[in-house]
Amino acid sequence: MQDYPMYIGGESMAAAAGRWMDSENPFSGEVWARVARGDAQDASRAVEVAHQAFAEGPWRDLTPSARGLLLHKLGDLILRDARKLAEAEVRDSGRLIADMVPQVTYLAQAFHYFGGLCDKIEGAVIPLDRKGYFNFTRHEPVGVVAALTPWNAPLLVTCMMIAPALCAGCTVVLKPSEFSSVSTLAFAKLFEEAGFPPGVVNVVTGYGAEVGAALVAHPRVRAIAFTGSDATGRHLAQQAARDFKRVVLELGGKSPNIVFDDADLDAAANGAATAILNVSGQSCVAGTRLLVQESVYDRFMDKLLSVARMPRMGDPMDASTSLGPLSTRPQYDKVLGYIDTARAEGAKLLLGGSAATRPECGKGWFIEPTVFEVRNDMRIAQEEVFGPVLSVIRFRDEAHALAIANDVRFGLAAGVWTQDFARAMRMAETLQAGSVWINCYRQVSFLSPFGGYKDSGMGRENGPDAVKEYLQVKSVWMNTGAPVPNPYAPR
Ligand code: NAD
Repeated sequence: MQDYPMYIGGESMAAAAGRWMDSENPFSGEVWARVARGDAQDASRAVEVAHQAFAEGPWRDLTPSARGLLLHKLGDLILRDARKLAEAEVRDSGRLIADMVPQVTYLAQAFHYFGGLCDKIEGAVIPLDRKGYFNFTRHEPVGVVAALTPWNAPLLVTCMMIAPALCAGCTVVLKPSEFSSVSTLAFAKLFEEAGFPPGVVNVVTGYGAEVGAALVAHPRVRAIAFTGSDATGRHLAQQAARDFKRVVLELGGKSPNIVFDDADLDAAANGAATAILNVSGQSCVAGTRLLVQESVYDRFMDKLLSVARMPRMGDPMDASTSLGPLSTRPQYDKVLGYIDTARAEGAKLLLGGSAATRPECGKGWFIEPTVFEVRNDMRIAQEEVFGPVLSVIRFRDEAHALAIANDVRFGLAAGVWTQDFARAMRMAETLQAGSVWINCYRQVSFLSPFGGYKDSGMGRENGPDAVKEYLQVKSVWMNTGAPVPNPYAPR
């Protein structure tokens, strides 16, 4: 059992009140680490340190190119430590080692890409409507950013938030989920080694109501980056509005994945199975609502169900495991509750429908891949389950598919499987989602914007748009020869 203190001002430290919280391993179900349980006092200390680093230098005084080099160096260190960081996340969150090593390796790209953007944040010279003045714009960092992350993908979400914020010149206080703080704390150590000045990136661990709320309310925090549930996001946005703080919200999803009768059905079956089963369904972009055209329904569902029976459950640290446990005990209970609700609503069970009790699952929080045929007005088709549970709906034609796909309050992502180019373009234009994937699923890159429509959030991560979330524009006027008369002189 290991202790994981917080990281503030470049130093590891216990919580001011000396409290700790347990972290459980989702495969063994046992406590494997203790993480510092901070409170408002720790949150305030971290924000003050981050504010000082922002306002007084040396971070503030670095040239953008020098700042970019620090981000680049951090990316190199991530590549060096990818295996170690991946293992921390596997133990803490039950993610698969087979997925995490490539994912952490890819995270280096966030810092290489945004490091390269640091010295390309350009203002403009405005061609004015008057003589005798010169006017230009500067894009300046907003200040301290509070970054609040969920338990399902701690390192990925952390990097999506902080790489653009650091690129803009902000400083950051991170608050990982109380369920999965360890990988973020291991990652934070790399900032010092990369040469970041103390206080530029800080990590305060603890519960949302104790640490997260204090960060959001702190007057020196100027922007809030939040990834998590829409309920918490709505609450935080209301809090932030009181003090006119920026918010970037990446919330949940209930994404449609649409299979037309002209699709390559084998590719679509593979794509639909991974769209729901990747990360055991605990993915904001999971393709949870599978819409299948009536004319190929039986043929397609045979293919899909045979792919969905294939994942190998077991120890997430074993490279051959392809379906892991749910990350937290409450989430495991919640998903089983949704399976009961679906049955009670009259959904037709096609696969799974229970906890997995195979010997290789040990005491882990595993659930069998589960597939229901449903109506779109059922709760199982409308609410975010966040588990390996797929809702399948039949449709007649393109208009019918579109109506069902958009009839949900979320709008994070959508998939379309068709060989008809014109139809693909029509769907890409009319689906209400921040990402649309044609004949593929779950493609996300640090180079391309990512975010939600409707209740799935506001603001964008990834790509140059992400940096703008953390910048404010200043207009500078210089008199280059305009007279400045005494306004009170007699005329
Ligand atoms: P959550 O909303 O419970 O918690 C997210 C973070 O907010 C945690 O760090 C938590 O401690 C903190 N928090 C909770 N209450 C708070 C409060 N009152 N004030 C300040 N902070 C508070 O979400 P979760 O259960 O950890 O994560 C699962 C959710 O995240 C799902 O809905 C999922 O769809 C979503 N998610 C979205 C994306 C995306 O990019 N859109 C990515 C991953 C996860």
